[in-house]
Amino acid sequence: MTLLVQKYGGTSVATIDRIKLVAEKVRGAKQAGYDLVVVVSAMAGETNRLLALAHEISEIPDEREKDVLLASGEQVSVALFSLALKELGQPSRSFLGHQVRIETDNAYGKARIRNIDSTKILQSLQAGEVVVVAGFQGVDEDENITTLGRGGSDTSAVALAAFLNAGACEIYTDVEGVFTTDPGICADARKLARISYDEMIELASTGAKVLEIRSVEFAKNFAVPVHVRSTFSNVEGTWLVREDETMEDVLVSGVSYDKNEVKITLLRVPDRPGLAAQIFGPIADAHIVVDMIIQNASADGTTDLTFTVSKGDYKRALSIVEKTAPAIAAKGVNVDTDIAKVSVVGVGMRTHAGVAAKMFQVLAEEGVNIEMISTSEIKISVVIAAKYTELAVRVLHDAFIGKQGTV
Ligand code: ADP
Ligand code: ASP
Ligand code: MG
Repeated sequence: MTLLVQKYGGTSVATIDRIKLVAEKVRGAKQAGYDLVVVVSAMAGETNRLLALAHEISEIPDEREKDVLLASGEQVSVALFSLALKELGQPSRSFLGHQVRIETDNAYGKARIRNIDSTKILQSLQAGEVVVVAGFQGVDEDENITTLGRGGSDTSAVALAAFLNAGACEIYTDVEGVFTTDPGICADARKLARISYDEMIELASTGAKVLEIRSVEFAKNFAVPVHVRSTFSNVEGTWLVREDETMEDVLVSGVSYDKNEVKITLLRVPDRPGLAAQIFGPIADAHIVVDMIIQNASADGTTDLTFTVSKGDYKRALSIVEKTAPAIAAKGVNVDTDIAKVSVVGVGMRTHAGVAAKMFQVLAEEGVNIEMISTSEIKISVVIAAKYTELAVRVLHDAFIGKQGTV
């Protein structure tokens, strides 16, 4: 029998009625002859609610205890989901991350999956049960509960599909697939029938939260066929595929935005070798991911060094930098929490020049100031003031993708 891994996100299991509806959908697939491993997220809003509770106690909550707390959201939904299946007469069994044994490293809040033991899942499938696995969580080698990072249930699902050699991994969500930009903020956004793994990695890493970035990296590395589609309809969604020649025609396949970053600037750092290492070493030791970095040397022998980190990490990053600043004789630290990163992504950029120039021109015409720029082979990102995000996304979508035609 073909094995399918299906993942249902928070909005798909937001209420008891929706859980019942999804359980019927899953039973339908089982009756159609598939073996099923279903990964569920916490009910919509639950992870945020739990996080807010932790912050009522502590400004920077202990990472280990925070993971114990956040993982409880998915514990509730696997139990309810499995109950709903049993109620329909469909045998089922729920598993938490440590019960399957989804083994991760010990980087709380952003743990990486190292190994998945398939023994219990295969036994359960053999017994005719639908296996329901808690997304977003794992266990480290010392039995600590870990979480994979926000949106991490996608990664749980793709990793399970890879380790179990599933026929496909279906990501069920509240939109019909991957669109040219977030359909929530741009009415002209169009569904893509397929998208290359590399483009999806760039879109995910620049804020298109329809898929979590590590899930796409996993899918690419293990060649997992991933199908992103809607929980609430049966229409074909978007397939992640290997890049092929036909894709070169498309210059830009997507526009993304991310309001989840904060800009930190170290002012007038002495311009000498080793200082960047002194600044970023302790940040890396704290497992904080730095995204963009720019350095502007001035004539007086000092430089301003600006970088961005995620909002979730910025208080820890700031407290580290505030310790480093006096030690390296920097003149101060500035923080800007009101920024957004807007990006255009497309494999066509490999062979076409001028995309960056056009992007800057389109933003200039709207009077949007660009504060930082970064590029990769198939992506250009700019940091702008957060208040211009929607405007920038719409004008860039209009300029590069337009309103008409098929993608
Ligand atoms: P889930 O709870 O199912 O994991 P998410 O909220 O994480 O769902 O992801 C789906 C949301 O991603 C959509 O509702 C949409 O607003 C947003 N999104 C952002 N960019 C895109 C895009 N390019 N294509 C589709 N959805 C996108
Ligand atoms: N519940 C987690 C979150 O809200 C994981 C997920 O939904 O994928 O980030
Ligand atoms: Mg998600």
